[in-house]
Amino acid sequence: MNHPQHVQITEVGPRDGFQAERSFIPTARKIEFIDRLVEAGVPRIEATSFVSPRAVPQLADAEEVMRGVDRSRGAVLAALVPNKRGALRAAEAAVDEMVVFVSASESHNRKNVNRPTEASIAGFEEVARVAGEAGIPVSGAISVAFGCPFEGEVAPMRVGEIAHRFQQLGFAGASLGDTTGMATPPLVAAAVAAVREAAPGLGLSLHFHNTRGIGLANVMTGLGLGVDRYESSFGGIGGCPFAPKATGNICTEDLVYLLAEMGIDTGIDLRKLSGIACDVEVAVGHALPGQIMKAGLRLDLHPMDSVRVAQG
Ligand code: MG
Repeated sequence: MNHPQHVQITEVGPRDGFQAERSFIPTARKIEFIDRLVEAGVPRIEATSFVSPRAVPQLADAEEVMRGVDRSRGAVLAALVPNKRGALRAAEAAVDEMVVFVSASESHNRKNVNRPTEASIAGFEEVARVAGEAGIPVSGAISVAFGCPFEGEVAPMRVGEIAHRFQQLGFAGASLGDTTGMATPPLVAAAVAAVREAAPGLGLSLHFHNTRGIGLANVMTGLGLGVDRYESSFGGIGGCPFAPKATGNICTEDLVYLLAEMGIDTGIDLRKLSGIACDVEVAVGHALPGQIMKAGLRLDLHPMDSVRVAQG
């Protein structure tokens, strides 16, 4: 197999995960979690979002979060930026990277940001200009890249076209988002091939959800294709708006565990990461879907007298 030896993980919990939480997570706690992620060796974090505070009250403290976190350790702190206004705020806050987003399908883009995909992409030029003047790289996220909850199948060609536009805009990379958990191994292979053909050399990240239980199987497909960047969230925090009981993002600890067992380096301290996930679970006040945070590592042994009967 063609597995990469090193994988870069982007932790999206502080943005993608917290955004799905109803009760406000105090700014000081957000800062603490980001600092601990950096300390655990996470190289890139989606720290917050410069969307309208009215649209996403949970992330209304974007400026304070960026001001409060320890920037001395060199992890890349990325932030979501919806438009020029958001880009100006993000530049002022000196984010390390801006992330813009567009859906692969027209229906999802209209539902998400109330405009056609071409209007979204046209708006990225202004973001790229603001970011360029501030010397900040931009990357692009493609939502519903493996299937749309309104339209069904998404053509890999369309995903490739958008990635090509990103490349023309000078973006640092593209992330393919499985927004509602519709990706399967064959669809992953088709989308990766389409992006590589349409935008050769563009950095490629995969952002999977575990909505239907095959998030890590999709990662395995990506690894086999040599993709070395993945996005995930601590504890698997983050839901799916179309399936209230289903999980969203794949879980970072579970992903790091898998990679470590395969001998693939991430630079992340898994025990520290599990500790963070357990504290995030307490902070949000409900169970998170992560497995390693509950089960521990494979060779964490149990004293024989600690269980009454080894059932099953
Ligand atoms: Mg997500």
